[in-house]
Amino acid sequence: TVDTLPRTHHAVVVDRPGGPEQLRWQDHPLPTLGDRDVLVRTHAAGLNFLETYQRSGVYPMQTPFIPGSEGSGVVVALGADVSTVQLGDRVATAGGRGTYAEHFLVHEDQVLPVPEELDLLHAAAVPLQGMTAHYLCRSTTQVHEGQTVVVTAGAGGVGLLLTQMCAHLGARVITTASTEQKRRRSLAAGASASVDYPDLLAAVLEQTDGVGADVVFDGVGKATFEDSLAALRTRGLLVLFGGASGQVPPFDLQRLNSGGGLYVTRPSLTHYTRDREEVRGRADEIFTGLKDGWLRLTVGETFELPDAASAHRALEGRGTTGKVLLVLR
Ligand code: NDP
Repeated sequence: TVDTLPRTHHAVVVDRPGGPEQLRWQDHPLPTLGDRDVLVRTHAAGLNFLETYQRSGVYPMQTPFIPGSEGSGVVVALGADVSTVQLGDRVATAGGRGTYAEHFLVHEDQVLPVPEELDLLHAAAVPLQGMTAHYLCRSTTQVHEGQTVVVTAGAGGVGLLLTQMCAHLGARVITTASTEQKRRRSLAAGASASVDYPDLLAAVLEQTDGVGADVVFDGVGKATFEDSLAALRTRGLLVLFGGASGQVPPFDLQRLNSGGGLYVTRPSLTHYTRDREEVRGRADEIFTGLKDGWLRLTVGETFELPDAASAHRALEGRGTTGKVLLVLR
């Protein structure tokens, strides 16, 4: 099959860090297969906030590079030592290399077989935000019945999934979202209250009889960090998992003491998907949740892959809910 593949393909390439206009659809060499890599013909790529940090230079990258680690498609070539994936398999992944392209590479341990009942478009919406929501509430901390948890950006991609998972685990979920329409979406996902950002503290105190939240999952970062700390009960846990509003500045650890013996952690998906078992275990639970119907995907918007710039503008401009997908026609 490698013989029948083209030598070049089209990809969104970033030649230097900057605004969304740096995402340019160009002819680019097809990537070279490593021994345990598979090459996937892209159906859809998932958009994630991470790519905006990489594009703008907040997370430094070697240029030129093709953004994207999430995608779905059909396997069209196999590395010499691949043993668990076959040509023609329908797959998805959160660990692809350069998924904003007509083809992308992925190590076989990061490959998720797509269940029959799931189409390839929706399959691209699952892996990264799904596994993130899963590790946050199942591994970083084990959310359980009787707890009150806060999810910031509750109508976002991670937010809607995390809210559903925490509610399914029996917790009371309080979310923030910036518009009435987003707050309605969040309530429909199982939040017991969804409020605008300035109202978070009052809502938490009201819902917990003044005690505070057991856990705050904060992916907004700079703009919300102080309120997230203040919303915690004694010995509460702040899980800072992103910085959609900017990165949190350096922090005096002594404040954890004055705040009531608080805990703070700053995890990433890579810490919680170290090997094939961990990846497959998380994905299996998510696919089962979708099949059983308690977990639902919200694809907020789809864009054409060559127009990734518009998708970045929408995500950074707070104009999206749920998952944003980049589709190849
Ligand atoms: P979202 O779909 O949640 O989009 C971001 C949302 O953040 C916006 O819709 C907006 O919702 C809110 N927001 C608040 N302030 C701002 C701001 N100043 N600019 C832009 N958005 C803002 O994105 P994702 O689900 O892809 O990611 C959510 C967070 O999770 C990101 O910080 C991301 O980096 C992080 N993440 C972390 C991972 C990890 O393993 N650590 C893995 C995956 C994602 P509203 O308008 O309601 O405020």
